[in-house]
Amino acid sequence: MPLVFDLHSHSNISDGLLSPTELVAHAVTHGVGVLALTDHDDTSGLQMAANEAKRHGLHLINGVEISVTWKKRTLHIVGLKIDPEYPALKSGLAAIRAGREVRAAGMAAGLDKVGIEGSLAGAYEYAQEGIIGRMHFARFLVSRGVSKDNKAVFKKYLVKGKPGYFEHQWASLDDAVSWIVGSGGVAVLAHPGRYDLGRTNMLLLLEEFRALGGRAIEVVTGSHTGAQYIEFAKYAQMFSLKSSVGTDYHGKGISFMEMGRLPALPTNCVPVWDDWPEARLTAESI
Ligand code: AMP
Ligand code: MN
Ligand code: MN
Ligand code: MN
Repeated sequence: MPLVFDLHSHSNISDGLLSPTELVAHAVTHGVGVLALTDHDDTSGLQMAANEAKRHGLHLINGVEISVTWKKRTLHIVGLKIDPEYPALKSGLAAIRAGREVRAAGMAAGLDKVGIEGSLAGAYEYAQEGIIGRMHFARFLVSRGVSKDNKAVFKKYLVKGKPGYFEHQWASLDDAVSWIVGSGGVAVLAHPGRYDLGRTNMLLLLEEFRALGGRAIEVVTGSHTGAQYIEFAKYAQMFSLKSSVGTDYHGKGISFMEMGRLPALPTNCVPVWDDWPEARLTAESI
């Protein structure tokens, strides 16, 4: 049996529903053999996840998903096999988290203006010990009956042009890639099909990403269609980038895809793990 790799997932340290421990147990019951925990801008779940992974014989990859602003757009860069103790990465992520708090206050002020009060405290109640983000506002707004579900609440309140959206400057692409690479990790462009860049900007982005030290893109990810698997496999080949696979699991009801359900990479892709020791494992050997 081939080993199942899932290299993008979230715990409640960021905006997932499960604790790092529960997330690892969930991955195991869904047949995942190699899991990367990639919380937004925060690595504090990795130790808990590692402890649980050890109990089950699951291979945990230390990961993170860094929020970036590139040409006024928000992009996400996943770091795999990072060293969470690397000083530049640690301080860079701390600065992003501090920025998230300022942004949250701005989001709440916007919601106040349309008569939705108490959203800052309400969102923080869902944020627990990790980062604060739009998903926590979404949960608060749904709990108030403002919208029926996550999808509807994002559309009406939390995306560009809506009352709870607050323009924010994240890390630069250069910084995010250099923190990851400097820590010994691999920088991966997350879910490229979600940025709505157009071909010209996608080519510019991939060229710049590669020149800065980026080495892979997500080809098979929970939010891509079958046509996008093919499209991004071609881009990967064009730029000699490796390909990654991940569900971007956040929890039941708020994920694009359940764990263990993704198809294999198209055959023209070089997996991001091809030179990792994990590539030599089989499902029987763990
Ligand atoms: P933030 O980093 O605080 O801007 O939050 C981004 C997160 O919100 C993403 O990682 C998703 O988990 C979630 N998200 C973003 N856009 C949507 C959407 N349109 N519908 C549902 N969830 C979304
Ligand atoms: Mn998220
Ligand atoms: Mn993302
Ligand atoms: Mn993600």
